[in-house]
Amino acid sequence: MDKCSFCGRPRKDTNLLIAGISGHICDNCIEQANSILEEEFKKKGSFDMKGVKLLKPSEIKTFLDQYVIGQDSAKKYLSVAVYNHYKRLMQSDKGDDVEIEKSNIILVGETGTGKTLLARTIARMLHVPFTIVDATVLTEAGYVGEDIESILTRLLQAADYNVEAAEKGIVFIDEIDKIARKGDNPSITRDVSGEGVQQGLLKLLEGSIVNVPPQGGRKHPDQKMIPVNTKNILFICGGAFDGIDRKIGQRLNTKMVGYTASRNKDNIDQSNLLQYITPQDLKSFGLIPEIIGRLPILTYLEPLNRSTLRLILTEPKNSIIRQYEKLFEMDGIKLVFDEAVFEYIVDKAVEFKLGARGLRSICETIIIDAMFEMPSKKEKELRIDLAYATEKIDKANIAMLKAS
Ligand code: ADP
Repeated sequence: MDKCSFCGRPRKDTNLLIAGISGHICDNCIEQANSILEEEFKKKGSFDMKGVKLLKPSEIKTFLDQYVIGQDSAKKYLSVAVYNHYKRLMQSDKGDDVEIEKSNIILVGETGTGKTLLARTIARMLHVPFTIVDATVLTEAGYVGEDIESILTRLLQAADYNVEAAEKGIVFIDEIDKIARKGDNPSITRDVSGEGVQQGLLKLLEGSIVNVPPQGGRKHPDQKMIPVNTKNILFICGGAFDGIDRKIGQRLNTKMVGYTASRNKDNIDQSNLLQYITPQDLKSFGLIPEIIGRLPILTYLEPLNRSTLRLILTEPKNSIIRQYEKLFEMDGIKLVFDEAVFEYIVDKAVEFKLGARGLRSICETIIIDAMFEMPSKKEKELRIDLAYATEKIDKANIAMLKAS
């Protein structure tokens, strides 16, 4: 009679008995063995830098190019920063004496221009724990909202509580501009969402050992804290910094009072002032100098124009259109779009000022009926032409008008 070779239970007393070459194992023993394995791995908690694939900066950029359209300046800065960051990690493993400083990054650009996408793509390439946090939910300890340490809770969770892996991870802090000090008066009465949070964040950015509540939320006296060293965690911050272009413009103008002014003014691209951003502009926006100092790599993202939007639609490796093609392919249906449809989708995104995020909702509106009906039809090809797309969008608009 078959029985488990580990606990001796006969088949009838088990839920499942799996046969091996010269024995059997029951579901119970598999579960037990699995928990032993997990315990062991946790204890070791090892995270080997050899597992991290380190490419040269130009190779990193080529990788980013597959997923992110344009944004060459940001890609270049990011590639170099990440390359240096990981060189630094490898060096600290060896205990060298020339210490390379950490290079946290700040990306400035309108919403929907690809900041999160860049950070996410970098993390995917490096296979390190990665998390995105929204700076707007952070508050000083004692106020309603999340404590700063919750950022590290998320990273720990992303690393499956492997502390060593988390300590080499990447954190993307979105909407960093929302914790800027409101107004230029630093003595303004206690500003919950501003300076206090920046001070708290500073501790993480500069590298220190932080006690992290493993389950997040408020610190609880009985909760066992996990100490996490942030020295090697790469922080990438992003923000739209609405209105910062005016500050950049003002700075450029005041600098140019003088006889060279008229000549230099012609060289300034007024339509995209972000490209001239300096740390000084972040300061006039309301970030404290200590924070700016801890984000030494400052770069910007270009606003998306028509031709970039057109490329975003089809060119990235996992572009929206490719995803739809794939979904239909799984039902054995070949999905084909007329070029005119792409132009139309971009027109609509521009018309409704929806940016890159709008591309998806427009596509979704066009294709939803087909996604609903096609899987139960016999046809093996679906061609979306301009008439089809226009009809769906117009109908949706009418429906929206009716709803309001
Ligand atoms: P941000 O963080 O700057 O607000 P995201 O990175 O979240 O913007 O971009 C929103 C979406 O728009 C992304 O998921 C992506 O599909 C698309 N997108 C934005 N910019 C680009 C770009 N440069 N290349 C490819 N896709 C982009």
